[in-house]
Amino acid sequence: YADTAMYKAKSEGRNNFQFYSKEMTELAFERVIMVASLKQAIIKKEFVVHYQPQIDAKNKKLVGMEALVRWEHPTLGLVSPAKFIPLAEDTGLIVDIDILVMEIAMMQVSEWRRDGLNPGILSLNLAIKQLNHDTFIIILKHNMSKYDFKSEWLELEITENDVMRKPKDAAVKLKEISELGIKIAIDDFGTGYSSLSYLKKLPIDKLKIDQSFIRDIPGSEDDNAIVKAVIAISKSLNLDVIAEGVETKEQRDFVLENGCSKIQGYYYSRPLPAEGIQEILKDFSL
Ligand code: C2E
Ligand code: MG
Ligand code: MG
Ligand code: MG
Repeated sequence: YADTAMYKAKSEGRNNFQFYSKEMTELAFERVIMVASLKQAIIKKEFVVHYQPQIDAKNKKLVGMEALVRWEHPTLGLVSPAKFIPLAEDTGLIVDIDILVMEIAMMQVSEWRRDGLNPGILSLNLAIKQLNHDTFIIILKHNMSKYDFKSEWLELEITENDVMRKPKDAAVKLKEISELGIKIAIDDFGTGYSSLSYLKKLPIDKLKIDQSFIRDIPGSEDDNAIVKAVIAISKSLNLDVIAEGVETKEQRDFVLENGCSKIQGYYYSRPLPAEGIQEILKDFSL
């Protein structure tokens, strides 16, 4: 946005700068400030990781948890990833943030395992810029050996949109990860434009049904049909499937009855700080 304004102003001559509204200048200014404080946040490691349990509704077992980053801003408090991840992705700062999250989460999970708790599979969100970054696999392997982390304890999530932008390139990278024995999940599935033939070729293990399709089930015929279709696709491609954003018993029952027993959502638990998860793990391990 800001870049376009700047470009136009340049190409149309200095005098045209006045056409651009005060709001736009303020937006550009805010963005510069945000980028600067994000950079600071990375240096100062102002990020915390929360974890959201994933439950198998059939046997009520905890199968894993997704690591979700929060920015612990010195004055703003806990900032949601929705507020800074898009900017971090645009600027490439996401690469450093995701490395921090990976390190924090792998360290935490290995500590839980050392204490005899079973957190199941740790799922990490992976931005496409991270996947394409030269050092990513090296750092991943480094952390695995540093924390004695078995590859079957790890899953990486990449959004459908990110994968399908350049599916052939993504396939090469995902194959490398998959060959390490790490699972790959397609996040926000249903919001992008997957071709089924690509899905079949990609080395993926799981589809995560996007929460936007879960929100209005079982009341919305359209969403009911979409959710059933995604579950059917997962079965026919021999993939695991999990429903995201399940908040109510009705939603849980609907996905479960239609063949998706893995569930991540407020119905079972919100994302929690490590201390909160520890309590849950102790209960599950009794
Ligand atoms: P996501 O990967 O699809 O994560 C699921 C989001 O849905 C999380 O939001 C989670 O808190 C929320 N959620 C889970 N269950 C429910 C529910 O029952 N109801 C509702 N309304 N929401 C639910 P969160 O933590 O705000 O994260 C938002 C997005 O930010 C994530 O979506 C992911 O795309 C991104 N993100 C979060 N952490 C990271 C990270 O460490 N690295 C990267 N690259 N992206 C991240
Ligand atoms: Mg995710
Ligand atoms: Mg998602
Ligand atoms: Mg998302």
